[in-house]
Amino acid sequence: REKIHSRIESKDKFFSLEFFPPRTKGGAVNLLARFDRMREGDPLFCDITWHPAGNPGGDTETSSMTIAGAALNYSGLETMLHMTCCSMTKAEISRHLQRAKDIGLKNILALRGDLPSGKDSWELSEDGFNYATDLVKHIKKEFGDYFVTCVAGYPTGHPEATSYEDDLKHLKEKVDAGADFIITQLFFKAGTFIKFVNDCRAIGITCPIIPGLMPIQSYDSLRHIVKLSKLDVPEDIMNVVAPLKDNDEAIRNYGIHQMCTLIKELFAADMAPGIHFYTLNREVATTAILKQLGLWAASPRRPLPWKMAANHKRSGEDV
Ligand code: FAD
Repeated sequence: REKIHSRIESKDKFFSLEFFPPRTKGGAVNLLARFDRMREGDPLFCDITWHPAGNPGGDTETSSMTIAGAALNYSGLETMLHMTCCSMTKAEISRHLQRAKDIGLKNILALRGDLPSGKDSWELSEDGFNYATDLVKHIKKEFGDYFVTCVAGYPTGHPEATSYEDDLKHLKEKVDAGADFIITQLFFKAGTFIKFVNDCRAIGITCPIIPGLMPIQSYDSLRHIVKLSKLDVPEDIMNVVAPLKDNDEAIRNYGIHQMCTLIKELFAADMAPGIHFYTLNREVATTAILKQLGLWAASPRRPLPWKMAANHKRSGEDV
């Protein structure tokens, strides 16, 4: 099967969807049902986040690894697993990568991760992983070109970076180390992404850059995410959202409208090969936006992999 980075470059405008592993078994069942519904729109891929505190590589039903395996092998979605490397040994990371390969995963979003909570400074390790670049290099060294590797980009600079320009240089190092494409941190204005892509191109970053977008779905989730990401919500958006804070439906409708406008601006500027949604494990707003923009596939569903296997078995074929 063609690797996703070539499909990013060749396909007409596409979309991809980020999900996080649920905390409970019931949540996992709901998420699998959601994968099934979202698959009907034909996303280019879905990706599953990695949570250092929450048993990401373990064997539990709700680990990142298990959920990514289910998205790929049960729901038939091209899947990318996030992996953070800070505070991990090379042996641990290699074990996770080998497990991902054994499950059939072929795409990794290589990240440094955040400082462990309670710590506000970073201790560099001589032999371990200090930056996402180290993880990209490790993946290339240990697994060659087996994994398609994505890295994170920050249109307004990473919060810890000494400057926006320094952060761009470090992004170029990640790409030079072998990353195939970039997904950005969320942002609110098309101009922010357009400037970022132009700045990346000016210093020789040539790989695809996919805008990471979060539809505004409720006042609380907006406040929570911007706090986590250390971003500012533009005043014109806050002025609309704040008076509506107790009316989730009105905020969601505004979020759909605001996001459709932003995406149209990105496409009109011909700056984005496709779009990536931070879904927060919800589907109503994302699906509405995709349908409004004509990005939701009208094509009939492809059969699920396990159904194909069952049909083959019934017809007596060896599977
Ligand atoms: P890096 O690229 O390593 O950069 C971190 C900082 O170090 C930056 O300020 C950079 O400028 C600086 N830097 C890089 N190289 C050098 C160098 N050689 N010398 C000096 N400074 C350097 N977190 C999770 O825990 N789980 C997830 O699943 C997850 N998914 C994410 C997905 C996306 C698309 C994004 C944008 C972020 C995600 N995060 C996730 C958050 C991410 O882990 C944090 O933003 C983290 O603080 C930085 O990770 P990074 O890979 O961008 O780091």
